[in-house]
Amino acid sequence: MAKWPYNTTVWQKLRRLKLQLEPFCEECLGIDRFVEASHVDHRHAISQGGDPFPSVDQLASLCPSCHSAKTARGPEAGAVRTRKPRKGCNPDGSPLDPHHPWAANNRARRLFGKSGHRH
Ligand SMILES: [Zn+2]
Repeated sequence: MAKWPYNTTVWQKLRRLKLQLEPFCEECLGIDRFVEASHVDHRHAISQGGDPFPSVDQLASLCPSCHSAKTARGPEAGAVRTRKPRKGCNPDGSPLDPHHPWAANNRARRLFGKSGHRH
């Protein structure tokens, strides 16, 4: 796990700074849970061309479970961009997670009109 850039002094400092500034998991904060963050994640993955040592606002404080959940979603799901909760749904029943398949259906419906049919 301790591979570049995580084994560098620069990263250790950056990580410590981020955890000082945002000691709580930002995904958990989005659902009103205060969970101590112990992982610092790149919003823009290095493997996707992100800066290995970005400014702290380009980093995300995460708890271990949110970090592994995010890793499991993979680069396809993108980096954490918002503080909005990923779990649960809106009052109208649409999922809060924009990557949920239902959300994609809602987007399609908005794009192609309410009926979903093309004449
Ligand atoms: Zn969390």
